[in-house]
Amino acid sequence: MSEEEKPSLMYQCLKCGATVRSSELELGIRCPYCRYRVLRKVRPPIVKHVKAR
Ligand SMILES: [Zn+2]
Repeated sequence: MSEEEKPSLMYQCLKCGATVRSSELELGIRCPYCRYRVLRKVRPPIVKHVKAR
């Protein structure tokens, strides 16, 4: 299990709607754009390789 294979978790600011990667939140949960401190977790869409039949 390597760290790199983890899908990057993202957060969305409830105030300005900006999405921020969890890796960018170095100082805790806080929007880097408007400094709002309430963010919700957002799962990035996972691209699956599924053949359409
Ligand atoms: Zn914000």
